[in-house]
Amino acid sequence: MQRPGEMKKRKIKTENERSPKKKKTQQKFTTDVQKIGAWIQFRLMQRETGCSNSSLNKIADSFVIPMRIRRKADVLILKKSGAKALELNGCIGCHKFVWTPSNKSTRCPKCNGRRYHPDSKTPLERAFYFPIGAQLRKLLKLKSFRDLLLHEYKRTCNSKFMSDVFDSPVWQQIAGLPSSVLTRILLATLLCGRNP
Ligand SMILES: [Zn+2]
Repeated sequence: MQRPGEMKKRKIKTENERSPKKKKTQQKFTTDVQKIGAWIQFRLMQRETGCSNSSLNKIADSFVIPMRIRRKADVLILKKSGAKALELNGCIGCHKFVWTPSNKSTRCPKCNGRRYHPDSKTPLERAFYFPIGAQLRKLLKLKSFRDLLLHEYKRTCNSKFMSDVFDSPVWQQIAGLPSSVLTRILLATLLCGRNP
């Protein structure tokens, strides 16, 4: 049994211990590695909540995470995920030539048309291309992703009801019957107000 005096002593000691701990929390992201880790956590939070880049940047501002660190962390995420976004520029003179990111020329080799606006470095025609091959290869290495792809086979269903796209005759006609081993992946595109 502790005497009242001892309990009081212990309580004071605990409060004293809390102070440096609090200080440590405030100085959490001091190294670049910690800041990169924090930004990656913020991106995960964004995936869960769907918050905008502007909101995320405001949070990062409050934690004093510099923009160069955010860019560096984004590059790391892209590398790890295999995701790519390529900007392509088209020739508006002949519509027969496309500049890839590695091509630094500013004139079209077919018609000598301009790549950029004469007064700025803004391309006259831009398109974004998202190749998914590398991303799929990375995703297929994850067991959790492969398990998700087996959902069509593993899910419970009732032949009397159509409760999922997998139950539709068109899907079954295109995809065939699912199996316990991954043999196919079907990619669906959703277009809203745009020409395919
Ligand atoms: Zn051209």
